[in-house]
Amino acid sequence: MAQKAFWVETLGCPKNAVDSDKLTGTLVADGLVPAAAPNEADLIVVNTCAFIEEARQESIDTILALSDNRRDGARLVATGCMAERYGAELAEALPEIDRVAGFGVPVVLGPRRGAAAPAMDLLNLPRPRSGVPWAYVKVAEGCDRACGFCAIPSFRGKQRSRDEASILEEVEALDVREIVLVAQDLASYGRDVGRAGAIVPLVRAVGERVDRVRLLYLYPSDLTDGLIEVICESGVPYFDLSLQHVSRPLIRRMRRWGDGARFLARIDDIRRREPAATFRSNFIVGYPGETEADHDELLRFVEDAQLDWCGFFAYSQEDGTYAAGLDGEVDRGLVKERLGELTELQDRITAQRRIALIGSEVDVLVDGAGVGRSHREAPEIDGIVTIPESLAVGSFATVTVTGAMGPDLEAA
Ligand code: SF4
Repeated sequence: MAQKAFWVETLGCPKNAVDSDKLTGTLVADGLVPAAAPNEADLIVVNTCAFIEEARQESIDTILALSDNRRDGARLVATGCMAERYGAELAEALPEIDRVAGFGVPVVLGPRRGAAAPAMDLLNLPRPRSGVPWAYVKVAEGCDRACGFCAIPSFRGKQRSRDEASILEEVEALDVREIVLVAQDLASYGRDVGRAGAIVPLVRAVGERVDRVRLLYLYPSDLTDGLIEVICESGVPYFDLSLQHVSRPLIRRMRRWGDGARFLARIDDIRRREPAATFRSNFIVGYPGETEADHDELLRFVEDAQLDWCGFFAYSQEDGTYAAGLDGEVDRGLVKERLGELTELQDRITAQRRIALIGSEVDVLVDGAGVGRSHREAPEIDGIVTIPESLAVGSFATVTVTGAMGPDLEAA
């Protein structure tokens, strides 16, 4: 009998990509083989994202499109954040779905066996080898914070950190040149098991095993001197700071730590210590109660901070969050205007910072033919460096930047 084939479609963030990799690992371990295309699969899994309304719509559209084109008899399973949060609604609204599987529920090809599937932890499942010279590694699941806008803790649960040995084992098995560590609240790695600050030795240990280690999503209050030091020493002085806003009263309404002045001081400190440090951040625009003055403060901050990369997102009200009960809704048109202003400003800053690199030498990891990344570019999120196609994929090369086009660089 021919082996059954599967297709996994991933939506959303890098953390979801890690879950999909692990899911692929279990399906392969179950004897299935990857299909060449979705319409050749016997099992189609859509790993959904529920982050904001737009992401939920994209998940639904994807499910419908894949369902329309599936081969006769193929089963369609929805998993991931949306399946976890809106499982019952999803199953009811989309009869195309054969099965909705929340986190840790095994995705199987056969009919559903009993109502209560055994829970398992996606964190410790095997993963296939990565096809590119870098890989995400998730070090913890869940989050102990209570940010006003965020529903993640309510459905991903409290933080559960993996033990260092299993992370290092996974890093070694992946056998890649760059590891990108991810978690909902990365800098808090280990706190749930009484090992606050464990991220520092972890970064050091991963750095001993691969050429590059990069960290995504750092809550600003946890950016300790020790962590800054180990990030700078790692050779990838890349700081992805989850700031969300800079106006102190608004940040408090978000139930988060910090303010613009503190953030700027920290960024300056890091730049003094490591002039090549690169910064990325995300901001929410239109959180309930955001005033014109708050917005102006954010614009000033963006201008002053000169971050390399920035994402701006319209506030999206999430069921069951603290913010859902707040007054001060911001008009949608106004949110759009504010987003436009911020994006325009940041695009200009990003482009200028890229132009400033022309003439300098950068060390790139060759991700694919003609495509590389220096420490300044995180995979799949930031720009890229266009390099000569002759450079071997998976190798490192020192190249000279000859041009810049928006977020991307050209180098020879
Ligand atoms: S925004 Fe991040 S840190 Fe805040 S509750 Fe959500 S996952 Fe946790």
